[in-house]
Amino acid sequence: MGEVLDAEIVIVGAGIMGLAIAYHLGRLGQGGVVVVDRGYLCGGASGRNGGGVRAQWSTEANVQLMQESLRMCAAFASEMKINVWFRQGGYLFLTRSEERRRSLEASVAVQNACGHATRMLSPTEAREVVPELDTDGVVAASYNPKDAVVFPWPFVWGFATGAAKLGAKILPFTDVVGFETKGSTISGVRVEARGRGGVTAHVRTRKVVNAAGAWSPEVARLLGVELPNRPHRHEICSTEPLKPWLRPLVADLTDGLYFSQSTRGEIVGGVGQGDVPEGVNQDSTHAFLGRYARSLVRACPILGGVKVLRQWAGCYDITPDANPIVGAIDEVERFYQASGFMGHGFMMAPIMGKLIAEHVVKETSSDLFQRWNLRRFREGKLLSEAMIIG
Ligand SMILES: Cc1cc2nc3c(=O)[nH]c(=O)nc-3n(C[C@H](O)[C@H](O)[C@H](O)COP(=O)(O)OP(=O)(O)OC[C@H]3O[C@@H](n4cnc5c(N)ncnc54)[C@H](O)[C@@H]3O)c2cc1C
Repeated sequence: MGEVLDAEIVIVGAGIMGLAIAYHLGRLGQGGVVVVDRGYLCGGASGRNGGGVRAQWSTEANVQLMQESLRMCAAFASEMKINVWFRQGGYLFLTRSEERRRSLEASVAVQNACGHATRMLSPTEAREVVPELDTDGVVAASYNPKDAVVFPWPFVWGFATGAAKLGAKILPFTDVVGFETKGSTISGVRVEARGRGGVTAHVRTRKVVNAAGAWSPEVARLLGVELPNRPHRHEICSTEPLKPWLRPLVADLTDGLYFSQSTRGEIVGGVGQGDVPEGVNQDSTHAFLGRYARSLVRACPILGGVKVLRQWAGCYDITPDANPIVGAIDEVERFYQASGFMGHGFMMAPIMGKLIAEHVVKETSSDLFQRWNLRRFREGKLLSEAMIIG
């Protein structure tokens, strides 16, 4: 059997979600937390994303959660003693059809009702926010200066350090390869340490959190549980650094283009690629660069001559209704889900890490955990979210 360890809670996945949960478990005074990851910190989507953080959403739940997340992101550097390059330059959404304008107006009404003061803008007003835009074909825009971007890596490291200080044990290069069960309860997790001759260990535990992102269906399947979320590659790139000139992250809801300027001056962005086959794939393509360049230069012609320095890819963890899967499930006792965060799990992690930690410790459920439960797919109670980029 190999080494035997004891844990109160095992978290599978040391991405932003698993680490945020571990940190908040520590803050609740929970001991015996072990986080295992088959790779290195930042190896999954959490180290590969655009760092966008916004409260412009179409549903009250998402707007309110993200308002809280934005507050937590703003306080993160002083709380965790790490610079995450939080920059509140806003988000400017563009739309190119009447149908999408109506949908955007409905979303803005929800945001305003929640106290997130987003404004609808005409194309001319959008150019007042970013004069370099070509708004030919743009029908309307929405703008909120409170939305922001961060640099993802230090955010991940901050949660990792914070969780470790509060007692969590973080084990990179450690693969979850199986579970021990008694009836519908978990009694242990089988892990295999990579790079140490594949040493296997048995972690005795009663609670497991599945925070394996795009790999979460694979982890759930080890317990015979079928999750409906699926990985889809999403490509992204960054350019040579430019003098700071672009304040908001600009996103085009029509083709999924988004771009922002990092505090280091690079233009970081991507574009929707509707035809991406399902599956974990983190390779980069020339086709993406062509598509992104065409869309970017249409929206912002002055970027035509800028050099791309780096391109990479990660996986969106896509659910059928664009909302995550969280909390306890009916199939296996104390096997908590924390996945299906689409292309917005990074920004959700500060608040969802806290809520999931409370749910796991207190074993109580709230409205949100009912609504975002795995059960909804079986019962056909699908949700919706219109403000998805990419
Ligand atoms: C290109 C791109 C741009 C994005 N832009 C944004 C953005 O601007 N804003 C935003 O909020 N979100 C964005 N996202 C989405 C965001 O990155 C994810 O939603 C978020 O990082 C998910 O975090 P996670 O911890 O759930 O998953 P991950 O970070 O993927 O972590 C899961 C971890 O589980 C580990 N794992 C898998 N299987 C096992 C196993 N069997 N045993 C042990 N460990 C295992 C993996 O190694 C991985 O490290 C973007 C994503 C991509 C790809």
